[in-house]
Amino acid sequence: AKDAGRNTYRYVTEQLNSDSLEFMRITHELREAVKCKQFTVHFQPQIELATGDVVGAEALVRWNHPVEGLIPPGRFISIAEQTGLIVEIGEWVLHEACRQAMAWRRAGMPPLLMAVNMSAVQFKRGNVENLVRGALESSGLEAQYLEIELTESILLHDMDHMLSLLNNLKDIGLKLAIDDFGTGYSSLAYLKKFKIDRLKIDQSFVRDIASDPNDAAIVRAIVQMAHTLNLRVIAEGVENQEMLHYLSSCQCDEVQGYHFAKPMPPDAFAAFILGRKSE
Ligand code: C2E
Ligand code: CA
Ligand code: CA
Ligand code: CA
Repeated sequence: AKDAGRNTYRYVTEQLNSDSLEFMRITHELREAVKCKQFTVHFQPQIELATGDVVGAEALVRWNHPVEGLIPPGRFISIAEQTGLIVEIGEWVLHEACRQAMAWRRAGMPPLLMAVNMSAVQFKRGNVENLVRGALESSGLEAQYLEIELTESILLHDMDHMLSLLNNLKDIGLKLAIDDFGTGYSSLAYLKKFKIDRLKIDQSFVRDIASDPNDAAIVRAIVQMAHTLNLRVIAEGVENQEMLHYLSSCQCDEVQGYHFAKPMPPDAFAAFILGRKSE
């Protein structure tokens, strides 16, 4: 048993060493990526259930690696957060998303809500209010067409600070959404205090809607309570007709997921919108 313990220990340290090498390698490359702007933003449509219209787009960053090609955010966001590089990456993403929103508008596309993810680290280390003002000003996008997605844990962390920070953002006129809702600990009543506009029901609840009666009940309850508090609800990870059907029976306001479209480069997104309009 002792040997097993020692082996486990050795295994763990080897794991840590190779992980930290990998960590340093990626950190180094990520610094380069920030310098050389090796990022790109894809957009995933958000569809209003009542009308079937595309009413929004979520901006999702990808790393355009010179050797490896497009790297999904799941492989670098966490490291970017740990190293603080997320502040610069996030700045770039917000500017790019606002710029793209205005480019689409100028090309004659109907106005969409542009939803941009913001990490807790950006709120801690960056000046989000200045960043937002800057991005709106340089793009010309009106604040009402911008939504910031944040997670519940940010709100719980430094409540008073976040309350004043988010109030300042609301004063600019933008919208606030809670991402991955249901996976954290916040109550709905408490969200109201933060002037949240919209909840995004986490994919994990949507995934098993058809097979897990608990998840189905949770989703229905979230929508009902959110509506009581005048919050809109969007479900993410909607992959099939069955999920869509259940969500619409719950009066969920909007949906997003592979059933409609994957996140796409700007041109493909524009083509998708055009295609739907001519249907
Ligand atoms: P998220 O904000 O929860 O974004 C939703 C993720 O689910 C996206 O993955 C999207 O492509 C994926 N998705 C959309 N529809 C479906 C579906 O029907 N089924 C399934 N299985 N997945 C679906 P993606 O683009 O790989 O992004 C992963 C995460 O990386 C995001 O999760 C978000 O937390 C983070 N992220 C992405 N872009 C940014 C960014 O600009 N800033 C920050 N801070 N985080 C970002
Ligand atoms: Ca999100
Ligand atoms: Ca999410
Ligand atoms: Ca997530």
